[in-house]
Amino acid sequence: MNAVTTEEEKTIIHFLKSQGCCLRCCFRFVGYRTSECYCKPFEFAAQPSYADIRDDTSVEEAPCIACLGVLQDKAQENIVSKIAEKVKEKDYDCTTFTCALTVPVSVKLREHVLYAYMSKEIDIHESVLSNLRTRLQSVKDIWKSFMIPQLEQAMGKRADLSTPSPFLIEIFLTYTDDEVIFKKLMKPKGGSDSQKKRKWNDNKFSRKNVDTLLTEMTDEQLVRHFTISEIAPKTFVCVDDILCSHSSVFIGGRYNKLSRKLSQTPWFINGEKKVETSVQDLLGNPIAEIVKAESIKFLSSGREDVDVRNIYNGRPFAVELLNPRMTNITSELLTRLTDSINQSTKQVQITSSLKVLSRFDLKKLKEGENVKTKFYRALCICRGASGDLPQLEHLNKLKNVRIIQRTPVRVLHRRPLSPRTRIICEMRARWAKPHELKELHTATESTDAFFVLDVKTQAGTYVKEFVHGDFGRTKPSLGDFLNAEVDIVALDVTGINLKWP
Ligand SMILES: [Zn+2]
Repeated sequence: MNAVTTEEEKTIIHFLKSQGCCLRCCFRFVGYRTSECYCKPFEFAAQPSYADIRDDTSVEEAPCIACLGVLQDKAQENIVSKIAEKVKEKDYDCTTFTCALTVPVSVKLREHVLYAYMSKEIDIHESVLSNLRTRLQSVKDIWKSFMIPQLEQAMGKRADLSTPSPFLIEIFLTYTDDEVIFKKLMKPKGGSDSQKKRKWNDNKFSRKNVDTLLTEMTDEQLVRHFTISEIAPKTFVCVDDILCSHSSVFIGGRYNKLSRKLSQTPWFINGEKKVETSVQDLLGNPIAEIVKAESIKFLSSGREDVDVRNIYNGRPFAVELLNPRMTNITSELLTRLTDSINQSTKQVQITSSLKVLSRFDLKKLKEGENVKTKFYRALCICRGASGDLPQLEHLNKLKNVRIIQRTPVRVLHRRPLSPRTRIICEMRARWAKPHELKELHTATESTDAFFVLDVKTQAGTYVKEFVHGDFGRTKPSLGDFLNAEVDIVALDVTGINLKWP
């Protein structure tokens, strides 16, 4: 028989009260599980006819020896408004929340000390007490059970602890003298205790070290180490910090890059920004501003070089918005955002509607980098082709040509890899029209001939090198097929084969 009787409950509650436990802690130690007893402890105490307990509220005036005030209305009355104010100040619009509470480290140690004293000083069978020990609910859980309804009301948000809500409120409660009282325990006794010292990780008063300590100490040792008056708190816990955070939101779409002087990401040297702006800045910053995110991460299916444009249906991209405060993102808002970004710059344009994405969607973005085929348009120059022009039609007949590319000279310093094989799936070439050469900034001779090459390649092909051969590092190259000296003038990405967003 180890079930606790009503008489025993009363004995325990009276004992704990006399040691300085608050009413909620008394209920906790006898294993009560109903939410009424924690939401309205004094009203509940009236029912099981604990008249003396109900009428004596003096114990609530001083900090509780077990919870240090975490479960006392007196110490908690300002916390709800503090949390609500903080959330309001930060202006998070999420309609749900979840909260995490950090309580002083000594709470657990105090619980063990109190059980040790119960076992020593009151006449209750050990099996009953050990049963109660296993039923003890944590201070955190009890705090949540009576505080969350109050928080819901104060913030106008619904608690969602099971899913959990992407909006997290972290509350840190500290007790000024938490460490002082237990310090002597952490000091290794005598010089030969080097082993224990190591286990306790620099004698720090940490949760982990207290746990280690408690598994090693018996009730007798605890009672010998601590008198009740020694651990009686002088002050209540106080709020050390309240932190709010929302998990990342992802917004993505496709963009075209219409400038040949724009890098994809900001370029820094020694912390100094080297280029005025970037694709990431132009797309990511306005989105971050709208959702009031703390920072962003720019993600895309590959990237183009600074001098390469991206035209037609655009490159898939996503922006990870870290700790956003505005998360009620409607399609109207996204449409407005797209318009304002497109009006603000001529260097990049969003070509699809923006969309809120899931983490699962993002996998597709990364996969797209390697699996898919890509389309390019290259403006090429054929030098010294007087009279005897190469036969471009010859290229149109080639299908799935295998080429071998050694790491290009221009990226050799970054990633010297072993030669790789890539497939040139299809090519279509034609001589350039005069208007296509208008904006040419390259020195030309009358013997130079220009042509436009549309090419479909396997992802990861170095297209520039395929065109000019890279000093023989790409074999075969376009020049090899045409039996002429070919160079690249301008390159555009014209298609990235990925269903997105
Ligand atoms: Zn308490």
